[in-house]
Amino acid sequence: MTHCSGLCQTAPCLGTCISDKSQRKRRRKNLRDGSHLSSNDVKVRDALLRYTNQHNVQVRYRTPVEALLMDPEGTDTQPNAGRVQGVRLRDGKQIMASAIILATGGASWPSTGSTGDGYRMAQTIGHSIIPLRPALVPLTVAERARAKALQGISLRNIHCTLLAQQAKGTHYKPIPPRYPLPPTGELLFTHFGLSGPLVLTRSLDAVDALRAGKQVFASIDLKPGMTADEIRIRLQREFEQHAHKHLANLLQNWAPHALATVLAEMSGIAPERPVHTIRAEERDSIVERFKDFRWQITSSLPLEAGMVTAGGVSLKEVDPRSFASRKVHGLFLAGEVLDLAGDTGGFNLQAAFSSGYLAGEHAAALTSAL
Ligand SMILES: Cc1cc2nc3c(=O)[nH]c(=O)nc-3n(C[C@H](O)[C@H](O)[C@H](O)COP(=O)(O)OP(=O)(O)OC[C@H]3O[C@@H](n4cnc5c(N)ncnc54)[C@H](O)[C@@H]3O)c2cc1C
Repeated sequence: MTHCSGLCQTAPCLGTCISDKSQRKRRRKNLRDGSHLSSNDVKVRDALLRYTNQHNVQVRYRTPVEALLMDPEGTDTQPNAGRVQGVRLRDGKQIMASAIILATGGASWPSTGSTGDGYRMAQTIGHSIIPLRPALVPLTVAERARAKALQGISLRNIHCTLLAQQAKGTHYKPIPPRYPLPPTGELLFTHFGLSGPLVLTRSLDAVDALRAGKQVFASIDLKPGMTADEIRIRLQREFEQHAHKHLANLLQNWAPHALATVLAEMSGIAPERPVHTIRAEERDSIVERFKDFRWQITSSLPLEAGMVTAGGVSLKEVDPRSFASRKVHGLFLAGEVLDLAGDTGGFNLQAAFSSGYLAGEHAAALTSAL
């Protein structure tokens, strides 16, 4: 039996991934859930559908599975383990099968059909669920007014360090990134905080540090290609050359106008002050803002808004060679229902494809051996 994975609904996710790689040559189709499908994505979807057709896979759309059916007797080798017998659909019908692949995805973006059902089903039959958290998700900040002032501004080639502070301590410690980071990236300011690829990549680190009770800060280096001294020297030169210019106007050479205004205000200098009136220590404060534009992270958008759900069925309970359950005979698990969360750039799709492939091969081998 093949569990319906609603390939038509998976396609938007494929679309996002593949579109990233083919930014320019895209012809997009709007989908009902507001996501898009590019012509390349359609090719991937069609290739997958062709493959299922070639292998006589029966796809049942709009057929939600309610529960896994268990044979309480267990197996000969694992008498207490239990064995799957089939599934019960939401309309009450049952489909019997000797092997089942649970590939119900995460709990993010429920409009794609992944509502977290798989976690509940796996838990009911004895699997442990590592706590679910949003990953690849925008972050909210304490400085809402500042975020609102910068809303819509996108910055490229910047660097972002996450800092954690123990609740009672005074010491800030960088949070090591769980994924290898490019030296610089792109960040987007939103009305609630920070987004963009650089922030999405670091978001799970922030979410986990907040869950651990730490205070979390994002320190943004707006000029990673320059040292503080180089910025100071160049600013001093420009201040001398344009002595009567207003600070915010001069800083427009360095940053978009709204950001220049915010940087001036954060440095305690009125944006309209002529630069010849600015003292050396005030200029140093601007330099500091460029190298450490700091935000306090308060939370993230909710689980539904993450591109990926971190947490899920514990990997210790799954054989990594076959993706067979170590708890329940005949059950295989693949994709985001597992405790997997990769970076942007196709790693989650790759994990879903690879685990799905292995689970499929081994489920087929199991059924043909019976
Ligand atoms: C907007 C967005 C952008 C993304 N961009 C990227 C990216 O760039 N790179 C990347 O690697 N990953 C990306 N991802 C994540 C990636 O799409 C997922 O990790 C991947 O699709 C997971 O595959 P899956 O097969 O495990 O689950 P899914 O693709 O979620 O498929 C699960 C399927 O199971 C079906 N289902 C759920 N419950 C039931 C039930 N009870 N009965 C029957 N069917 C059920 C659902 O309808 C769904 O079709 C993105 C996700 C989103 C939402």
